[in-house]
Amino acid sequence: MILRVALDVPLNTLFDYSWQGSAVAIGTRVLVPFGPRRAVGVVAEVTDQSALAADRIKAVSRVFTEVPPLPEEIFRLLRFCSDYYHHPLGETLFNALPTAMRQTKPLTLPKAEFFRLSATGRLADPATLPARALVKRRLLLRLREVDSLRREEIAALSPSAPAALKAFIELGWVEECSVHGEPPPQPSPASEGGSNGPSPRLRGEVGRGGQMHDRTIPPLTPAQEQAVYTINGALDEFRVWLLHGVTGSGKTEVYLRTVEAVLQRGGQVLVLVPEINLTPQLEQRFRARFPASPPLSLHSNLSGGERLKNYLAAQSGQAQIVLGTRLAVFTPLPHLGLIIVDEEHDASFKQQEGLRYSARDVAVIRAKQANVPVVLGSATPALETWHNAQAGRYTLLSLPERAVSGAAPPEIHFIDTGRLKLEDGLSDPLLAALRERIARGEQSLVFINRRGYAPVLMCGQCGWISACQRCSGRLVAHLRERRLRCHHCGHDSRIPSACPSCGNLDLTLLGQGTQRVEETLERLLPDARILRVDRDSARRKHALPAMLKQIHDGEVDVVVGTQLLAKGHDFKKLTLVGVDNADGALYSADFRAAERLFAQLMQVAGRAGRAELPGEVLIQTQFPGHPLFMALQRHDFPGFAESQLAERRQADFPPYCYQALLRAEAPAMEKVLEFLRAAAEQVSEADAQVTVFDPTPALMVRVAGKERAHLLVQSASRAALQAFLKNWRERLEALESRSVRWTLDVDPLEF
Ligand code: ADP
Ligand code: ZN
Ligand code: ZN
Repeated sequence: MILRVALDVPLNTLFDYSWQGSAVAIGTRVLVPFGPRRAVGVVAEVTDQSALAADRIKAVSRVFTEVPPLPEEIFRLLRFCSDYYHHPLGETLFNALPTAMRQTKPLTLPKAEFFRLSATGRLADPATLPARALVKRRLLLRLREVDSLRREEIAALSPSAPAALKAFIELGWVEECSVHGEPPPQPSPASEGGSNGPSPRLRGEVGRGGQMHDRTIPPLTPAQEQAVYTINGALDEFRVWLLHGVTGSGKTEVYLRTVEAVLQRGGQVLVLVPEINLTPQLEQRFRARFPASPPLSLHSNLSGGERLKNYLAAQSGQAQIVLGTRLAVFTPLPHLGLIIVDEEHDASFKQQEGLRYSARDVAVIRAKQANVPVVLGSATPALETWHNAQAGRYTLLSLPERAVSGAAPPEIHFIDTGRLKLEDGLSDPLLAALRERIARGEQSLVFINRRGYAPVLMCGQCGWISACQRCSGRLVAHLRERRLRCHHCGHDSRIPSACPSCGNLDLTLLGQGTQRVEETLERLLPDARILRVDRDSARRKHALPAMLKQIHDGEVDVVVGTQLLAKGHDFKKLTLVGVDNADGALYSADFRAAERLFAQLMQVAGRAGRAELPGEVLIQTQFPGHPLFMALQRHDFPGFAESQLAERRQADFPPYCYQALLRAEAPAMEKVLEFLRAAAEQVSEADAQVTVFDPTPALMVRVAGKERAHLLVQSASRAALQAFLKNWRERLEALESRSVRWTLDVDPLEF
């Protein structure tokens, strides 16, 4: 037997090995000799012939059987990703596996906490056991009495009970389960009255009639009810729903009701969120709503063992709800019934290294392959998504108003900083508004998207500025720690006491960072309790939850925060959001900068006035009349999207074309450009449907000592672009590119 194995190497090929043992399923992990070392591989094909001479084929060293093979559906999805992103199948497969499964040593499976009888075990008759097998009989009888037993409970039965347990597991009579009892899914309170079949309409009415026992489940608003009714009416097929709801419109409640319907049908649900650290609230809400099927989380902050355990619980079908970040999109879910992508526009769904996939797009493909619905939720959908909804490929569901009755959207005003004197970046009207909230006992957020003290240290005498030696960025001064740091490569050095160039002792700090705003506010509002929340202050483990709690508990008057705080948090007493300065994005060279700015400002604005108290947003800008700000003030995403899409169409940008970048980097720009020019020459006449642009330095030219440039290719036809990339990639692989590292980025988000 020849096993064709995918290995975690940057080569777009499978490797042939021989195997003499029993049949091996596709998706099985194996250990194979690879050069001087041994490597883990995944069996991609099983055949009986090889193009290699028989004496060159090495034997598989070992077939791992501790865990079931990668299921067919995931294999198919990963093959799609490998083809679509033009990334080697091996690396694509390994990208999707928990780290523990990528290692050459056998897996040490996390010990299961609980054990229960399997279907076969329940049929087993204790009387058939040999009379001498007393402990086995006792264990079997005990397991028949209860739903499940803890490992310690079993051990307490008898010293030889663990051995009996092991024997039962081998017989297939006992299986592991992660949750004690695992009673059959209880209909949750919201579904009462609807138990003879999923009838969302009925359920909504029951809700409005106020017959629900649990007061935490609100009756749906008419818009929510419409969305739930529509989605739940089409759970049997692939559909892409775009749930467009302003912040606070109750998208989460819609998710919960659709999840409930899917769970009742015995399905599993995959919920993707941009950053799990920022969404403990979502996890809590799922946990509170579905106590019998608590969500399992899958993200990169988990320890290897935890991640493996959760991955396997999902694969076995035990976990009904999986809540995770982008990597969770590859989790095996045998009963997948629904995928939800929350904040679908968020750039962190796109992986920016290795397999450069978009988890949102992969989620849509996965839903299609599995023939299940996918819900994309956002207050500010990606323009690609919005365009798909306009074109009828996705179905738009709108929640135009806040769910809490009486909660109005925040009023947005602009402070023209072209006309006002600023005190360390803060204007008088903003300071006055802050004082007003403090006097009323309400909270404020000052949003500034730059951490550190000041973005540049400068010498007024000779013009020296703190530039990073290895990047084209500036070193940011972190005054509290007395360090100069590069936010791109991690360079970290002491703040010099004198100008390194001319010796001048009087260096100037230019611009604002969170630390400086914090310091200024401490000086100007001496009685206020001020808290800075950014990646630096949240670095320590559990620091962020502790700070969030402080805010919730009303121990803070003014929060100075970055985007770390902009997402998903719901602070009841926060009524004012001040935005320090966001003008940079208005003259950025990146055609998506405006889209991102709008989304970000909508999101921070959404922090103001979530409950009974009305909210206000004050944005400091030099361009108060800019159309983007005007649309923002009207809370008019559709209007903004329409004008952006018109511009994109005019300029022939996505979504009106499909793009890919050939990214290259090397210590010297000359080499990079040389490679890219050679790559451009590999384009043939036959590729007429594809436009290849000139090599262009990246927006951030130097990072960590490497110079970066790219070649943009685009086409009005996705199929034509794909066909081109497939051929081109093969030709690129044949190119001489010694010192140059290159990669293809399909549907790039960063330039
Ligand atoms: P979104 O995710 O759209 O920002 P959430 O789902 O977080 O909105 O809901 C915002 C707030 O509105 C939450 O406090 C939530 O409990 C509340 N809420 C949601 N739906 C309803 C409803 N039907 N009736 C009353 N309050 C609701
Ligand atoms: Zn100087
Ligand atoms: Zn740097």
